[in-house]
Order: sequence, then C-alpha cells, then structure tokens
Amino acid sequence: MTNSIYEKLVESLIRPEILALSAYNVPESMGMIKLDAMENPYLWPDELVAEWQALLQHAELNRYPDAQATDLCSVIRSVMNVPKECDVMLGNGSDELIQILAMALAKPGAKMLSFEPSFVMYRLIAQYVNMEYIGVPLNSEDFSIDLEQTLLTIRQHQPELIFIAYPNNPTGNVFDPIHLDQIIQESNGLVVIDEAYQPFADDSFISRLNRYPNVVIMRTVSKLGLAGLRLGYLVGAKHWVHQLNKIRLPYNINVLTQVSAEFALQHHDVFLAQAKKIKTERHLLTNQLERLLNVQVFPSRANFILFKLHNRDATDVFEGLKNKGILIKNLSASGGALSNCLRVTVGKPSENKQFLDALSFLIK
Ligand SMILES: *Cc1c(COP(=O)(O)O)cnc(C)c1O
Repeated sequence: MTNSIYEKLVESLIRPEILALSAYNVPESMGMIKLDAMENPYLWPDELVAEWQALLQHAELNRYPDAQATDLCSVIRSVMNVPKECDVMLGNGSDELIQILAMALAKPGAKMLSFEPSFVMYRLIAQYVNMEYIGVPLNSEDFSIDLEQTLLTIRQHQPELIFIAYPNNPTGNVFDPIHLDQIIQESNGLVVIDEAYQPFADDSFISRLNRYPNVVIMRTVSKLGLAGLRLGYLVGAKHWVHQLNKIRLPYNINVLTQVSAEFALQHHDVFLAQAKKIKTERHLLTNQLERLLNVQVFPSRANFILFKLHNRDATDVFEGLKNKGILIKNLSASGGALSNCLRVTVGKPSENKQFLDALSFLIK
C-alpha cells in the first residue's frame, strides 16, 4: 500500500480541525536536569517506598478497578478539606477532567473562554470537542486580568465554559480573587477554577465554592509530587458531578493509581514538607534571577518561575542550556507578552544552582 492511499483516506475521514492540529510535543529528556514540566524533584523516604511496595503486592491486576474509587475519594475528601456538601469526581490527570467538562458542555456553537497566556490544554481540548475558544489577553506587564475586557467579552460571547488557572501557568501569578468574583457573577456559564498549583500557593477558592452555583474547582496530585500516577479531581455541587460522571469512562482510575494515591495521600505531610522546601527554593531562585542583569523575573506562587531576557535571544539561551544538559521551557514562540520568555521549574538546590550558573554564563 502506498503512502498516498493512506493520506487520501485519512484526509477524507479525519475531521479537518484535527488534521490542522499538531500533536502535543513532549521533548526528549533522558539524562537531563529536567526543569521543564513542573515536576516535584524529590523522591519518597525509603520507609515509605517499602510500605508502598508491600501494598502493591496485594493489588489485583486481574480485576477491574473500583469504578467509584471509594477509598481514594474518601482520603481526598479528608486530606484536601473538601466541603461536605460537595461531590468529588476523579480524572486521569486533570487533563481528563478538562476534557470531560468540555465534552459535557459542547453544545453546537458552544464557546470556551480562558486567558492568553494560560494553560494550553484548554485551547487544545476546545478544538478536540469542536468548541469555539476565546482567549482574553492578560495585561502584558504583569499578566493580571484585564477585567473590563474580560467582562465585555463574557457579555458579548456568553461562553458556556470558563477556565481560570489559579495560580496561572505559564506565568505563575495568582489573579485577584475580586476579579474572579466579578467574572463568576457576570457569567451565565460554568466557571472552572483550576488549582493545579495549590500546594505552592497560599490561597484557594475552595472555601468560596458554596457562594456560587456556577463554579467547580479542579486540582491534581501531579504538581504535588505524583505526576506519574495521573490523578486529578474535581470538586463541585452534586448536581454538576452527577451529570459529568455520566461521560467519565467507567474505569478511568486504574488499580495501581488508586492503591498508590490512597497510600501517598495518607502521608500528605511528606508532600507538604516537600512543597515547603520547593517554596523556599522558589524564593531563593527568584532572588538570584533578579540579581542577573537584563533578566526580568515575574513573581510566582507556583513551583516554576517565568522570566524574560532583555539582552539575548531566549531560544539561543534555551538551546545553550540544553547543550549543557539542562531542560527548561522555551515560551518565546508563543509570542505576545511571552516573547523572549523562558520558564524554569524549581528543582533541587543543586539543580537550581547548575541552572543559574549555566544561565549566568550564557547571558553575560
Ligand atoms: C499541569 C497542569 C494541569 C494538568 O495536570 P494533570 O493533572 O497532570 O493533567 C492542569 N492545569 C494546569 C494549570 C496545569 O499547569
């Protein structure tokens, strides 16, 4: 069979919006100092690893997982202070929750609104499910919300679904909660507060959830230190969760994730201590970056730092770091306020030092 036969067939059958997409690119990182993906750099203490491995021996991989993940949900409820009137829905990462929300609200002609720049999966998933995506630009000097423009856009487009990353990725700032209140009040759609970076922020919207019928909150254990498990959760009124659960695939949280996450979250204090270390390092790394000439640092409440270069091409510096075995994220191609910007995940002290040394050398 020749290539052109496949090409014709694929082009005639796959939706044109999908043909136009490029696949989500994950760079090769073998053997590198990996500061590109907001992972927690710390492993578990040996005793915990041993205890966890003992539990895994009893995991029954011949059986389907508990479709409701009852035990895991109850640990999440207690550890994460989920208000008792709210229900919890689990996803294979919060990426899957974004997809479930979008699928559920994607009536013909439905719109999704978020900010630019923000988490790229919102826009991508809108495309996957045929929703129109509207990205309201953030203020370019500090990435705060342009409230007037946002309220105007909401009035004009009446989006069914609004995603607000709180703190925001890739910028690291938290938006003014008063702006969030106004957006929620203006919106006739569902507003999703994405608290992926909650372990590093000092603020959460969860205590305000009951004030609004049109708000749900999403969180994930990925940035906390369990990115490999793929587990996110949504907290909201039972009316929402009941409907969303209908399109969640029945066994989306596998046996190993259920056992491992339940165990890990029973030791939540270990992860909180790691998050605390990361916050301390974030503070140090911010100060050290600020000391470099021609580097503009954006204050972060997450486990990464966005910075802009004023005397060097960010892509050259990104490549230079990569050649020295250090992988960060190059956001320059996103353009707009992100042009010549790079994002570095806060790593271990030794990793941060190697990054800083290499960066200072490259931009001096
Ligand atoms: C990383 C990230 C997520 C994705 O989390 P997963 O649970 O790993 O899918 C969601 N939202 C934001 C804003 C993120 O940065």
